[in-house]
Amino acid sequence: MGEHLEAEDRRQEYASITLRLVRDMLDSMGKGDLYSDDELRAMIATARHKEQRTMSYIRFSSVSDVYVYQDIDFGLRCCGCKLRTSLGSWDTRSRRAMVEHLAEHIEKGHKVPTDVCETLLDEIRECGDDSPGAMHLAQDRRAAETGSKDG
Ligand SMILES: [Zn+2]
Repeated sequence: MGEHLEAEDRRQEYASITLRLVRDMLDSMGKGDLYSDDELRAMIATARHKEQRTMSYIRFSSVSDVYVYQDIDFGLRCCGCKLRTSLGSWDTRSRRAMVEHLAEHIEKGHKVPTDVCETLLDEIRECGDDSPGAMHLAQDRRAAETGSKDG
C-alpha cells in the first residue's frame, strides 16, 4: 500500500514539474495563454501513458537492421520493416511469429542482434507466446539486470 502511495506521489511530482517546464517554455515562446493548466495536464498525462505502453527490444543502429518494439495496442511491431517492399511495419501478437520473422531478416542477410531473439524466447518460456501484458515482466527483468539478479 505504502509503495503504491509513494508511486502516486512521484507521479504527481513528475506531473507538476513537467507542467511547470511546459508552462515556462510556452511563456518564453509567447504562447502561454494558448492552453489552460488543465489542458496541459491532460496532454502530459497522455504522453506519459503512451511512454509506459511501449517498450523497444532493439532499435536501428550500426549493428541492427531492425527496429522491434512492443505496444499494448498492436503487440509486437517490426517498424520500417525491410522485408516489406513498401515502407511500413509488420505487426504480430505472437512472440514466436516475431522470432520467425526475425529469422527471415537474418536469411536475407539483414543484421539482427541475436539477443533480441533470445529475449523473445525467454519471454515465451516465462510468460507465453502472447505479447501484450507481458510487458511489465520484461521491464522488471531489465531493471533486475541493472540491479541485483534473483532466481
Ligand atoms: Zn521485419
